[in-house]
Amino acid sequence: MSYQAPIKEQQFVLETIACINDFAVFPAFENATPDVVDAILSEAGKFSAGVFAPLNKVGDRHGATWSDGVVTLPEGFQAAYKQYVDNGWGSLGADTVHGGQGLPFVLATAVQEQMTSANMAFSLCSMLTLGAIEALQVHASDEQKKLYLTKLVTGEWTGTMNLTEPQAGSDVGALRTKAEAQADGTYRINGSKIYITWGEHDCAENIIHLVLARLPDAPPGTKGISLFIVPKFIVNSDSTIGARNDVRCVSIEHKLGIHASPTCTMSFGDNHACIGYLVGAEGAGMRAMFTMMNHARINVGLQGVAIAERAMQGAVLYAKDRVQSAKFGGPGREAVRIIEHVDVRRMLMILRSTTEAIRALTYLNAACVDRAHAETDPDKQKAAHGLADLLTPVTKAYATDMGVEMSALAIQVFGGMGYVEETGAAQHYRDARIAPIYEGTNGIQALDLIGRKLPMDGGVHWRNLFSDVRSFTNSLPKSGDLGLLKPYLEDALEALNTATVWMVGNDGPDANDSAAGASLYLRMFGITMGGWLLAKQAVAAQDKLAAAEGDQSFLKAKIITARFFCEQILPQAVAMLGPVTRGDSLMMALSDEQFLVA
Ligand SMILES: Cc1cc2nc3c(=O)[nH]c(=O)nc-3n(C[C@H](O)[C@H](O)[C@H](O)COP(=O)(O)OP(=O)(O)OC[C@H]3O[C@@H](n4cnc5c(N)ncnc54)[C@H](O)[C@@H]3O)c2cc1C
Repeated sequence: MSYQAPIKEQQFVLETIACINDFAVFPAFENATPDVVDAILSEAGKFSAGVFAPLNKVGDRHGATWSDGVVTLPEGFQAAYKQYVDNGWGSLGADTVHGGQGLPFVLATAVQEQMTSANMAFSLCSMLTLGAIEALQVHASDEQKKLYLTKLVTGEWTGTMNLTEPQAGSDVGALRTKAEAQADGTYRINGSKIYITWGEHDCAENIIHLVLARLPDAPPGTKGISLFIVPKFIVNSDSTIGARNDVRCVSIEHKLGIHASPTCTMSFGDNHACIGYLVGAEGAGMRAMFTMMNHARINVGLQGVAIAERAMQGAVLYAKDRVQSAKFGGPGREAVRIIEHVDVRRMLMILRSTTEAIRALTYLNAACVDRAHAETDPDKQKAAHGLADLLTPVTKAYATDMGVEMSALAIQVFGGMGYVEETGAAQHYRDARIAPIYEGTNGIQALDLIGRKLPMDGGVHWRNLFSDVRSFTNSLPKSGDLGLLKPYLEDALEALNTATVWMVGNDGPDANDSAAGASLYLRMFGITMGGWLLAKQAVAAQDKLAAAEGDQSFLKAKIITARFFCEQILPQAVAMLGPVTRGDSLMMALSDEQFLVA
């Protein structure tokens, strides 16, 4: 199935939820005028559909291959990557001082959505590079920025993120890779990392690994971790490429999906000496890595959006074409296209409205990151920062869970043809499945939400957010389509507020009760945000309809999908209140031995 970028929808969410038309007033984003935004979305959409999408199936079938340390991508990937670099797609959000275009992260996010829908495995290369750029922009020295950023921004070099080791997955603080200071100011890196995305490949001339390692006298845990730049090829002071560094890919994984994304085991310092360059201060590695991870967590949430969109597109096209069965309760026995069956419609409405909800949440999150960067008023900046941080685990986990659920639902629309590989529906499901796992599992996101994000700054950020949702809901009319949304939103917010007060009230020995409800609580949070953001779009659509602006059919559909989500999905949030607040006793009631019955 081909891919078509949902440009009208993306523009609408950028305008009504991210409020991108206000961005050009910020000196940081003066280039982000509506014309520029529209032109970029449209050109990136063509590029994604025309260059990345045709390689999706090839990438899945043939995958990346490894031989004697060399990783080769399937045919066509090198040439497509060159086009990506030549067109400057990687430079949208980067600082202009390093050759970037200085455009908002939320616009780069919309473009990244298109690339990911077109080819998730391929898009991971640029996603990791964007994260590395972000970390270096914030934490690297001026000299390091000069040496590495320009070529990362053009995409001539790519970036990676090296945290995971066999004993250090969710618990990054358990990592053992060593770094030893040398007299010349560099460090010797020794150890190995697993699961490193695009850790080795043949699409770029150099790879800049960002590696977490521990100094000999470092304290245990995350406090003792430092961040290092470890280039595949040493970069000379004039930015030319020098000697091969002693960092090698010793194998790649065989896995469920994203076959064209090489998942590498990396070895540092096995042969001669692996040279690393400290970023920031010794022991400050986690802080720097968090810059990269926060960026990446929103982008991984975006993968849920992108894959749900792609899966939905395939399901809709198939449902319009496949003829099977007469209509339930219909007069005759004549078979109809399956899109006419109400149960298939139900699935397509869930697909469409959920995809819209998670897109809105992800773009709002990215826009808050932009505002945190661009606002000049310190109070507004702090509020934007707080909201961005609060929403990040919700975006990551809710959107990626929905990516999996929506790609599974799309298979259901296809029937048997979804389960066989030919249609591509199965690939979306296989590809989507990694997103709830990497970049911090969704279970870890839920603990981050309740343990760090809710209590942040005394809870002011969730209180402000809920107060915004409440004011919006109160402002809805009592009747008409928009009035129909109101009671559902009121009930969901009330339940979420009650659950939140319960969550933050459990400390000490009761903390495990909160942990027991955390994942479901995060979903409740995500669903409620989805209802609110779709309702906001419905209001904007109604205003445009009244002013006879825009595409009437698209705007009417926005009101219908908002109503569907609020009536059919949002009540789940209310029903979750009981299970969320029931505590851990039943979860801990079986002994370890009782789980498996002989
Ligand atoms: C395809 C792929 C690509 C990847 N890319 C990268 C990359 O580029 N760079 C990189 O550094 N890493 C990467 N990873 C690693 C990834 O981030 C980890 O797999 C992930 O963080 C989980 O760690 P783990 O696999 O060790 O699972 P574990 O940490 O062992 O977790 C297993 C289960 O236990 C749960 N769990 C663990 N700790 C807790 C806790 N404290 N409380 C509650 N539940 C807990 C988890 O939620 C999970 O359900 C990648 C992994 C894969 C599969």
